Amino acid sequence: MEEYFDDNHLDEFETEPDEVLESLPTHNQWGELLFDSNGNMPLSPEEREIMIKRLEQKFIEVMEILRISRRDPNCTKTPYRLAKMLVNELFIGRYQEPPKSTVFPNRKKVNELIISKGITVMSVCSHHWQPISGDCAIGYIPNKYVLGVSKLSRIVDWFSRRGQIQEELGEQIADYIENLIKPKALGVVIRARHYCMIARGVKGNEDNSLMITSVMRGYLLTDLNLRNEFLNLIGMGYAK
Ligand SMILES: [Zn+2]
Repeated sequence: MEEYFDDNHLDEFETEPDEVLESLPTHNQWGELLFDSNGNMPLSPEEREIMIKRLEQKFIEVMEILRISRRDPNCTKTPYRLAKMLVNELFIGRYQEPPKSTVFPNRKKVNELIISKGITVMSVCSHHWQPISGDCAIGYIPNKYVLGVSKLSRIVDWFSRRGQIQEELGEQIADYIENLIKPKALGVVIRARHYCMIARGVKGNEDNSLMITSVMRGYLLTDLNLRNEFLNLIGMGYAK
């Protein structure tokens, strides 16, 4: 992913100076609190409906600026579709409660790696609002509790459904699981394609480039043999 960091693109990823950041609004024009792209603040379906209506009006304006006629039958309802897709699908993790995560007692005192791989990651990059598409492997050695496999998919989906950068997505998933079951070891590996690179034609062989990030906690951070076992079991570059 070297091209991600080449000089031509550095500017886009640099943060504004502190005084500029501090001058940016903390609330919107309706007095509602603004929060980070990958944050969460649950809203009722009615509140999301209001959001979609406001957004639809803005997308009508966006289309007019782009000179796209809504008389084109394919575009008549595009402002509404875009609004609904952002609020109820791509960014829904921002506005919903975390998935209910039932934990089970580790009765047999399992002390080996439990691995789930091939978990779908469908996210959106915070920088360009383009899809991040890939998969995730999670491994852990339980302590007192184990987690259902379907729970892991739901946790990954909940954190993915919002503007993210892949590095922070992995950390958020790991923090959440660590908090929930306090495992002795935990690893979260994500590999994904970033469509902001593919669609914008960033130079390089972007069609084939994958970004791989890994988060290791507990024994997986300190025990090299265990880490190798985990990486072998998920097979770095593991087949779909
Ligand atoms: Zn991007």
